[in-house]
Amino acid sequence: MKIGVLALQGAVREHIRHIELSGHEGIAIKRTEQLDDIDGLILPGGESTTLRRLMNLYGFKEALQQSTLPMFGTCAGLIVMAKHIVGEEGYLDKLDITVQRNSFGRQVDSFESELNVQGIAEDIEGVFIRAPHIEATHGEVSVLSTVGEKIVAVQEGQYLGVSFHPELTDDYRMTQYFIEEIVKPTLMIENV
Ligand code: GLN
Repeated sequence: MKIGVLALQGAVREHIRHIELSGHEGIAIKRTEQLDDIDGLILPGGESTTLRRLMNLYGFKEALQQSTLPMFGTCAGLIVMAKHIVGEEGYLDKLDITVQRNSFGRQVDSFESELNVQGIAEDIEGVFIRAPHIEATHGEVSVLSTVGEKIVAVQEGQYLGVSFHPELTDDYRMTQYFIEEIVKPTLMIENV
């Protein structure tokens, strides 16, 4: 399968590496026309205010709002997929969740944690960098993982979002899950 990585900001190469380790083709996406050639899209982390500006500039806001492509957002990518952001407007409205940015406090700006992710594995390596958390889920959203009381991974249909950066480790099981369990079944339904 062909999996795009939105290449406006963030750890694009690292995500492409995880797609390749999963046995699929990773493509850096810089123009909206390229969205027609892929089966799923990863929205990397970075800084969500900058990311939103760049997405506005290159027409990705409208294109992705209209798109039904399976999407996987990590960190800032999760923030842009949320319907509600504490103190700000939601952006792509893909995941019916409320996210709080930079929510793990100063002392723990960055940390690593072994996560039990529902339906994937009990020992997923999570790297958190000025990470958001999911304060509330609404509607049909499933919670896949928490750190203490804080929700850090969710899925709603073809949309997957995590607070952390799976691409910064060698553990590519989150990406593999996105491709095999979300993108592939979505393609099969489309081709019926
Ligand atoms: N703190 C960033 C934001 O709010 C997200 C950090 C990240 O993607 N690592 O946009």
